[in-house]
Amino acid sequence: MSKLNPTHNPELKSWLESANDPSSEFPIQNLPFGVFSPRGSRDLRPGVAIGDQILDLRTLESEGVLSTPYPVFDGASLNDFLSLGPNLWSETRRALSDLLSTGENSPEVRRDGAERALVSQRDAEMHLPVEVRGFTDFYSSREHATNVGTMFRGADNALMPNWLHIPIAYNGRAGSVVVSGTPIRRPLGQTRPPGSDAPRFGACRRLDIELEMGVVVGSPSPMGKPVTIAEADSMIFGYVLLNDWSARDIQVWEYQPLGPFQAKAFATTISPWIVTQEALAPFRVSGPVQNPVPLPYLRQDGDFNFDIQLSASLQPEGTRDATTLCRTNFRHMYWSSAQQLAHHAIGGCGMQTGDLLGSGTISGSERNSTGSLLERTWNGTEPLKLQDGSERTFIEDGDTLALCGWSEGHGYRLGFGTAVGEVLPAIGHDWLD
Ligand code: MN
Repeated sequence: MSKLNPTHNPELKSWLESANDPSSEFPIQNLPFGVFSPRGSRDLRPGVAIGDQILDLRTLESEGVLSTPYPVFDGASLNDFLSLGPNLWSETRRALSDLLSTGENSPEVRRDGAERALVSQRDAEMHLPVEVRGFTDFYSSREHATNVGTMFRGADNALMPNWLHIPIAYNGRAGSVVVSGTPIRRPLGQTRPPGSDAPRFGACRRLDIELEMGVVVGSPSPMGKPVTIAEADSMIFGYVLLNDWSARDIQVWEYQPLGPFQAKAFATTISPWIVTQEALAPFRVSGPVQNPVPLPYLRQDGDFNFDIQLSASLQPEGTRDATTLCRTNFRHMYWSSAQQLAHHAIGGCGMQTGDLLGSGTISGSERNSTGSLLERTWNGTEPLKLQDGSERTFIEDGDTLALCGWSEGHGYRLGFGTAVGEVLPAIGHDWLD
């Protein structure tokens, strides 16, 4: 488990003034990794966010300002860097912190090199930070699982008998993970209208969000080899915001007995900056008490959860104000990311650099802390009033949904940026009817 080190020092300041603004999401204690291109070009480059700038890691590496065992920042994703493992992630973070900080660790000649490698975030476009190898989506918020179970099976059978023993998940689609800002096309599919025996085909009518965190796996594990909780924890490179877009009407018709398929396969949005697990070390907290005690391979002792504040908002097309749908916190998750990863590997599944694990919808215990419209409007029975006076049960065409996340305290704020997507109308399907 990563310990506190000089990169977490709350007193640390950067010579880049915008990083010292208390409202900045990217102070020198954050240093999240992403992939950007100068606006209008397709020249994709790994970078680190600092204040309102991006530090171009390819330039730093090629000019020898940042040393790595071999070139890892010359590609269009962070996978090569992630495969170096936790010691080198940590050394690189320390080097970047020294380079960007005021004080004797940042001699002027190196600072000149760093200044030449800065690109304004305003002049950059963001891309997927990693080549996503596999995407697995968990279901690890007890409050969310209880709400959904109550809606569909009644309060007495809300949690399935396995839920308190296994971090439940399904294997999703890595290929439809997109970066924040990518428009989302309303999916087509089969649904069975209430009261009808026969399915219909058409556009999804109950389109929803799922407010989640995504874990980016850094270090791989070989096929056939289980990993312990401690090993799993050290394999995690960092975290992104994740919106697991969901077609509820398609989901309820298709999901038995194998779980979600088309209802989730059309898109998953992630935020562009990976906040490293090391940066989050000061925000580690213990999770809820697990009762019954999990089987030995899932037992953890220590602070495996993270205090990350989260919110989701909806802004209808042509309006000025977004309406907050919910506020919640990642710290309440029943199963930790390390437990999810240990469980994922226990049967022999090799984990790969660039694997993405969704936490599952993150819901708190209050209605306004639930991370989906399904729960927020109680399956569409309690419409939500928006700022512009209109109402929503589920998402309408033209709506822009945004997730936001940050950790705060110790004198600074670690921002995750946003995961945003506008919903476009379904593609014309007359010829298919
Ligand atoms: Mn999900």
